Amino acid sequence: MARRNRGSRGKIILVAGGAGFVGSHLCSALLGAGNRVICLDSYLTGSPANLSSLQDNPYFTVIEQDVCDEIEIDEPLDCVYNLACPASPPSYQADPIHTMMTSVTGTGNLLRLAERHRAVFLQASTSEIYGDPLEHPQQEDYWGHVNCTGPRACYDEGKRAAEALCFDSLRAGNVDVRVARIFNTYGPYMQPNDGRIVSNFIVQALRNEPLTIYGNGEQTRSFCYVSDLVEGLIRLMNRQPNPGGPVNLGNPGEFTVIELAELVLSKIATASTIVHAPLPPDDPKRRRPDIARARTLLDWQPKVPLQDGLSHTIAWFQSALAKQRTVRRP
Ligand code: NAD
Ligand code: UDP
Repeated sequence: MARRNRGSRGKIILVAGGAGFVGSHLCSALLGAGNRVICLDSYLTGSPANLSSLQDNPYFTVIEQDVCDEIEIDEPLDCVYNLACPASPPSYQADPIHTMMTSVTGTGNLLRLAERHRAVFLQASTSEIYGDPLEHPQQEDYWGHVNCTGPRACYDEGKRAAEALCFDSLRAGNVDVRVARIFNTYGPYMQPNDGRIVSNFIVQALRNEPLTIYGNGEQTRSFCYVSDLVEGLIRLMNRQPNPGGPVNLGNPGEFTVIELAELVLSKIATASTIVHAPLPPDDPKRRRPDIARARTLLDWQPKVPLQDGLSHTIAWFQSALAKQRTVRRP
């Protein structure tokens, strides 16, 4: 199809879930690269505050809407990123049926939108596709080990169904779809009450509260700094030709939960200790991405070591929590 003439401005890009943690960084990067960006978000777990530095940009628009409702956009879209879905276990388990519908109905709505606009589509999928994995590290051809009846299923199985919708749309020739399987990502603009490990540990340490380790803390995760992830998402969206299958995006450095707690405590002057709390059901024991496909197809690998990424994130939370205290003061 002939590209539409946009004058000197770049592409017109929809970011569903653009007011969330990753989405706000993505909107910022896309605007910085000279594109027009439309953010569509219901503010379920995102916040207008995440977009405050973008709100005066004339090339940025926000639409407050649930992706489960039919979506109409008047402008001709070149690209659609689908990041709309709560991502932390407490958030996605708060209304599990809506989480499932967000992935299934919401992704279906956005795929139809992309088809009408002949826009390239990128789905923010997840390492949860692999469940509590029996293969390590996880490669894209591993089919996973997911409990379809447990409390994580609304998220894991929703994202698996969304991938099925994506690859059926691709095979049918309806939409040029790309799927990123994102591993644990952290950084500024996570909500302090989000519930994920990095934000929990940093906020607890800054408040001199005990760090809550679930279970014995020997379970592992691999933590990717958000700027690295955003770079990978944009490369995947722009990659020609279509890579034809999912691509893992994550940092292969693997840490136990105890190691992360100790690292956070070593970086913050705090009176915090460590306490143990029950391990949530179906909590994956080990997780580390094999990123050979991303290296080959996208010439991408993470650049920010955990030590540095944590320092940036701690500094951001220090300032965000100080602002919250100022606002609350009568
Ligand atoms: P987040 O919760 O901060 O952001 C999700 C955004 O989607 C929020 O702004 C929320 O309000 C919006 N949203 C949720 N449901 C919606 C709905 N029905 N309609 C419209 N908007 C809706 O999470 P995040 O960490 O920024 O994750 C972004 C995406 O990346 C998610 O799809 C998530 O599944 C995926 N992902 C993230 C990680 C990670 O570690 N951050 C890992 C794997 C996958
Ligand atoms: N976790 C923890 N304490 C917390 C939050 C999480 O020990 O305060 C553990 C959790 O049980 C899991 C790991 O940290 O083993 C990562 O949890 P998170 O919710 O960040 O992401 P996910 O489980 O989806 O990878």
